[in-house]
Amino acid sequence: MEYAKLTKQNIKDLESMVEPERFSTGESNLDLHAKDQSQHTPTRPEAVIWPISRAEVSNILKYANEHTIPVTGWGAGSSLEGNPIPVRRGLVLDFSKMNRILEIRESDFQADVEPGVIYRDLNERLRHRGLFFPPDPGANATIGGMIANNASGTRTVRYGSTRANILRLSAVLASGETIETGSRSSKTSSGYDLINLFVGSEGTLGIVVEATVRLTGMPEEFSSATATFPSVEEAGKAVFEMIRAGLDPASLELLAPECITLINKEKKLGLEVLPTLFLEFHGPSQKQLTEIMEIASDICGDTGCHDFRTGIERKERDDFLKARHELGEMITRNHPGRSHMAIDVAVPISAYPEIIALAREESRKADIPGYTFSHAGDGNLHLVFMGKTGDEKEWAVIDQVNARMVEKALAMGGTATGEHGVGIGKRKFMQAEHGNSLEWMKRIKDLFDPKGILNPGKIFP
Ligand SMILES: Cc1cc2nc3c(=O)[nH]c(=O)nc-3n(C[C@H](O)[C@H](O)[C@H](O)COP(=O)(O)OP(=O)(O)OC[C@H]3O[C@@H](n4cnc5c(N)ncnc54)[C@H](O)[C@@H]3O)c2cc1C
Repeated sequence: MEYAKLTKQNIKDLESMVEPERFSTGESNLDLHAKDQSQHTPTRPEAVIWPISRAEVSNILKYANEHTIPVTGWGAGSSLEGNPIPVRRGLVLDFSKMNRILEIRESDFQADVEPGVIYRDLNERLRHRGLFFPPDPGANATIGGMIANNASGTRTVRYGSTRANILRLSAVLASGETIETGSRSSKTSSGYDLINLFVGSEGTLGIVVEATVRLTGMPEEFSSATATFPSVEEAGKAVFEMIRAGLDPASLELLAPECITLINKEKKLGLEVLPTLFLEFHGPSQKQLTEIMEIASDICGDTGCHDFRTGIERKERDDFLKARHELGEMITRNHPGRSHMAIDVAVPISAYPEIIALAREESRKADIPGYTFSHAGDGNLHLVFMGKTGDEKEWAVIDQVNARMVEKALAMGGTATGEHGVGIGKRKFMQAEHGNSLEWMKRIKDLFDPKGILNPGKIFP
């Protein structure tokens, strides 16, 4: 597809659609929207617009479509696969100023939000009402960006990814037409599920301008524990056995020793430097949770656990989870002169012990700083490498490990990306993962966006 370069007239026309301070072709603004948090090559857009209403988004898209100008949505730019990099240049729509929480309906467990709302800000507003929005990626992501990437986090094992927590969407299509999809009912059998199509589409089918999100009540009681193991492989077996036993963790995270070392260094938590599982259960009473913890402890004991520590107080639990959330940032911060690549695969839970064992072996062989951690209860594994920036040899090794990990995950019936999305980095695996259904995805893309203006260069190989 040939895309037009913005002409002086285009710039004048687009500039007139918003207030002057919400349109920029300035160097620093273009640079700020040229790259996400990944190692992928930056590309600057030609202009950045900060819309504040659906009408503005609609006018801009209608114009861009008529003039075949690429348009890429931008939330917080925290993606890890190049998802919001405007590889074909054109316009970036930055939603940081379209960030109102429009309504919270406590009794229905719902909130209406604009796309630029940061999920942590929403949770801060909800805290005193005893509610929360469960998906919790480890960055200050916007709800628009989370919808586009189907983000998830430490609580997904119990409360689902972003996909499970969206009830209704308003989206502007490439033509400028706005559609409303979904309802405020907590269930529906009505027609095709367009929400599920938009969630995870990385802004390639339409631009989200409003969403109704599902909220969850804070649990009456919680119980947390840590379990340390002689090896990551044994911890992986414990994860499988706990899920197989039907335990329903609200969080089941695995951290390899190098992650614990880093957390101790930065957060002074004084954790034992061993492969560690963090477990949390939510329930109506401590009595019930004590019984569940006993079963979890037995399972961990049977799979080689050194030390199962339960009865963790709220502060200690919050400190641990905060450190877990900040781990990605810690890793980057501690390796100046290096860039990071997060391998992100997910497999059926029975295959989890095998994939985590493979990750350890690959990490050892690569001999490049690497960190293994995992939303283990979902079978979602991360192996983050910190490769020397510009060192082609190291990056070739990392790319090969990534390819082998993905191949193995696919062979196990898993996926090339558990939560970071396809972006640029995972396009090459899409054919192998989806076979001929990739062609149907392409047809859907062409139907919604015939001129291919929405986030071009993503998802499809
Ligand atoms: C330290 C760190 C830790 C992370 N941990 C996790 C984690 O635990 N789990 C996880 O899932 N991810 C994680 N991520 C990745 C990232 O935070 C998520 O993918 C997040 O959803 C991106 O949101 P964002 O607001 O930054 O969106 P961006 O990166 O700005 O954009 C993401 C995608 O959304 C599109 N987009 C943005 N706004 C809209 C809109 N209004 N309509 C349509 N499309 C739009 C963009 O074009 C792009 O394709 C982490 C990232 C970092 C840096």
